[in-house]
Amino acid sequence: MQFIDEALIRVEAGKGGGGCLSFRREKYVAMGGPDGGNGGDGGDVTLVASSSLNTLIDFRYQPLYKARNGQPGSGQNRTGGFGEAREVNVPVGTTVIDADTLEVLGDLTREGERLLVAKGGHRGYGNAHFKSSTNRAPRRTTVGYPGEARHLKLQLKLLADVGLLGLPNAGKSTLISVVSAARPKIADYPFTTLTPGLGVVRVAEDASFVMADIPGIIAGAAEGAGLGVQFLRHISRTTLLVHLVDVLPDDGSDALENVLTIEAELAAYSQALARRPIWLVLSKVDQMDEDALKALKARLTGQFPGREILAISALGDIGVEDLKNRLMQANVDHRRSMHEDADYREAQFALEQEISADVLASALKRSAGADDEDAQDGSDEDEVEVEYRE
Ligand code: GDP
Ligand code: MG
Repeated sequence: MQFIDEALIRVEAGKGGGGCLSFRREKYVAMGGPDGGNGGDGGDVTLVASSSLNTLIDFRYQPLYKARNGQPGSGQNRTGGFGEAREVNVPVGTTVIDADTLEVLGDLTREGERLLVAKGGHRGYGNAHFKSSTNRAPRRTTVGYPGEARHLKLQLKLLADVGLLGLPNAGKSTLISVVSAARPKIADYPFTTLTPGLGVVRVAEDASFVMADIPGIIAGAAEGAGLGVQFLRHISRTTLLVHLVDVLPDDGSDALENVLTIEAELAAYSQALARRPIWLVLSKVDQMDEDALKALKARLTGQFPGREILAISALGDIGVEDLKNRLMQANVDHRRSMHEDADYREAQFALEQEISADVLASALKRSAGADDEDAQDGSDEDEVEVEYRE
């Protein structure tokens, strides 16, 4: 399943500054020569691929990007200043299309890659520029040229970075609703039953990640209990799983036992997926006193040494900010390593392949169970457009 994120923007380069018509005027000089300076070139608009962004959502709120105009030239041969260029950060993986001609202008696939999308207008010349041996007092100047302007369509394959895992009622949907400002509405989603939710978690103006919420899984899910495990494929391409654990489940079950149950189902679905980093995030901790929480953490640490274990209350606003920041940092580290560390990248690709194979095997197993309505949906090629709502 691929989510296609799109945005339409306008880019306008700066106009070139006009040339100046001027003659030198000095007290004791009878006939001053021409001294009108040239204008400055208008600024360019350039897109720059950045790995700290991963959605196009910001472009919906800010669709116009202008570079500055060049300054006009002035007397005494003063050249006008260049118009300041505008650099616009877009996520790595963005495809840039001219919205009017539908020509693909480029794919920004590597961190720092640049694409000039609107060239600044050329400067105008001042009359000093036209001075020659035959024309010592030219009155000619030229105006600055307009900068290029374009409508651009940006497209991005949106992938969730963080997947939420947990029993029904663990607090997954509540968490995603408090950490994400805008929730993409997924148009034409092929499931009629239930849809996974995607949330864009913004940490700073230029830093966000995407969190995916799926229906909870229960004991026996790998064998079809509850909604089964088919939704796990929606988090099969996330780079990190957050396993949300209700500290005091309504049914009186034990939090640690529940963790073991879910992780066993996960491993039954895909051993490879279970090798992704999984953070244990204790949920609804407003319901538990500090000592009991400490004891639970100690039991979990004993069972899962080396695991990241955090505690939050989405409703009580405890630990949520910290979780967001840490997840952002983990994503930034991951994206950086993907760009800079060839071994890391290789290992990630190998793991992804294994996970994909497991996802496919699971889909085939289910489709063997006859008229399963979403069996035909196992293909990775489905594309679904993403719309945002506040
Ligand atoms: P999901 O099934 O994992 O998506 O769980 P939900 O987000 O739907 O939450 C299940 C129930 O737990 C709801 O009644 C929520 O109001 C409640 N809940 C969620 N987060 C908290 C929390 O931080 N504290 C408390 N006390 N209840 C919570
Ligand atoms: Mg839910």
